[in-house]
Amino acid sequence: MIDNRAAWSTLAEKQAIEAVPLAERWPAETVYAMLLKTAAAHPSRPAISFQIKSGPKDKAETLDWTTLADRVTRTANLFRRLGIGEGDVVAYLLPNCNETVLALLGGVTAGIVNPINPLLDVTQIASILRESGARVLVTLASFPKTDVAQKAHAAVALAPAVETVLEVDLRRYLAPPLSWLIPLLRPKLSHGHQVRVLDFNAALMAEDGAALSFEEGDGDRVAAYFHTGGTTGMPKIAQHRQRGMIYNGLIPALSIATETDVLICPLPLFHVMGAYPILMACVATGAHMVMPTPAGYRGEGVMDNFWALVERWGVSFMVMVPTAASALMQRPVKADVSSLKYALCGSAPLPVELFKRFEKATGLKILEGYGMTEATCLISFNPLGGERKIGSVGLPVPYTEVKILDCETDGTIRRECATDQIGEICIAGPAVFPGYTDETRNQGLFAEPGHYMRTGDLGRIDADGYVWITGRAKDLIIRGGHNIDPALIEEALAGHPAVAFAGAIGQPDAHSGELPCAYVELAEGATATVEELMAFARDKVPEHAAIPKYLEVMDELPKTAVGKVFKPALRKRAIIRVYGAALAGAGIEAEIEVIEDKTRGLVARVAPKGGADEASIGNVLGRFTPPWEMAG
Ligand code: AMP
Repeated sequence: MIDNRAAWSTLAEKQAIEAVPLAERWPAETVYAMLLKTAAAHPSRPAISFQIKSGPKDKAETLDWTTLADRVTRTANLFRRLGIGEGDVVAYLLPNCNETVLALLGGVTAGIVNPINPLLDVTQIASILRESGARVLVTLASFPKTDVAQKAHAAVALAPAVETVLEVDLRRYLAPPLSWLIPLLRPKLSHGHQVRVLDFNAALMAEDGAALSFEEGDGDRVAAYFHTGGTTGMPKIAQHRQRGMIYNGLIPALSIATETDVLICPLPLFHVMGAYPILMACVATGAHMVMPTPAGYRGEGVMDNFWALVERWGVSFMVMVPTAASALMQRPVKADVSSLKYALCGSAPLPVELFKRFEKATGLKILEGYGMTEATCLISFNPLGGERKIGSVGLPVPYTEVKILDCETDGTIRRECATDQIGEICIAGPAVFPGYTDETRNQGLFAEPGHYMRTGDLGRIDADGYVWITGRAKDLIIRGGHNIDPALIEEALAGHPAVAFAGAIGQPDAHSGELPCAYVELAEGATATVEELMAFARDKVPEHAAIPKYLEVMDELPKTAVGKVFKPALRKRAIIRVYGAALAGAGIEAEIEVIEDKTRGLVARVAPKGGADEASIGNVLGRFTPPWEMAG
């Protein structure tokens, strides 16, 4: 499909690729046009496959490129019939399945698609639906063992702009006898009268699959709203242009993927990593995308069967996040995985030990990469043929520039950092997003002059042009005005053999504002006491002020849907503990809950059990920075 393949191993080779103007490499003007080109080039090759259960022999459905193009055309026509114009929003609240791909590609073609994580709670889902102004929602029909339909039902009641709900019934993915039982097992659910409810597949089969019923807009158009993972608080809605999506397919198409490749996608399609570099790489090249179970890596049996699934589908390209890599390494590789060529890992720091263990078990060197929602995903990865520097996120991808800048809060550049000097990672390139839907969130987002986007990540660039992430500006622990990078603590603890993951945050402190505090998840079967881990931290954390004041071992650290440690949940836990202890110290017994407020951040809600009044509680909690209020 792409006839301009070009690999890069060094910064000079990346720059040589850029000597050819991007316009000459562009695979197509729109995502839909790219899909039609691929369907014409590889009509009967497999495009997407989905299996609802994780067994290597379980039932699966595969659509070839001709069928996929037909279904996407129908889906886009259906959305248009339902009133979705170029500037209107169609949301989907779906786990992975073939219809999710249709909703994504059809939504991008007809209007603006807004994928929503089904693991969010109803209030968050409703707030995203209201903020995006979605008029159509694609979601699951009521199905056993999942509450997606129930959540959609409750959220739609709080989002009056939603006019139509399209339901996807997963029943047809099951084999008998289970499929026969579904009607009996299905929880009963009826939508209110205010929305029209249609069966997604029946409705799209009534549409024309031969051609779009409308004229497409251009590739510069904003065609998706992706909410951020919420690792730093309430989800924000990022806008994506079609060009950014196509670019994320073009980059893997330049050097990694061809039509004979098989990409496994155990990551959710409401996150950029699955939706763009994986799916768009397939749309750009004709490679085959395989989705194991609706919940991907979190699906029942997926970890246990993963290597057998690689063998079943002849997977050549796998994408992971460190938590998944760690879980996979706790299982023996008992299958023929010789088809595997690349294992890409991103989204959070990859412990060095894990890199080594993975290589030993599979023979593959992990390619660590860096991406973010605001960049429509890809920013950099370790080059395929060049040096893979463990711990580095590699070279910026062609046509993307990275600068390390020191900026004022409003974005004014103070100075550009020299080689190896740490500052804020800022990026420019064809896939950098135009901003969040909420204008108030865009202040100071770009470094000026130059309009480089500020990632909020801290890092450096070495003499070979490799990018190293050293922490997150947005996650800093501020102890009495002294900035502590939580990565210092997390990396030190990750060096302990019993530690699988560590998350460090600042816990509120009356004297210093914040004190470092660490939460740890142990590797399966490993044991370690808090005292032992504290002693290890005292020895290994390179800065005295960063040694955690408190350390707790949890069965499992709270994680986002793509497997990153979810720090707001740790902060909530720390506030409850610290506020509870401070109140108990003053003889006040209280129930504390921490809620997330859009403007004030985390707020503690205090419900005293005895007769304590607001003033006496204020005397105690007023010494801390996180806000609080009386419950009720
Ligand atoms: P998201 O938008 O949910 O994909 O989150 C993007 C953020 O994930 C980035 O701003 C980084 O903080 C973090 N991130 C992504 N890739 C890596 C990586 N390889 N190492 C460390 N942090 C990463």
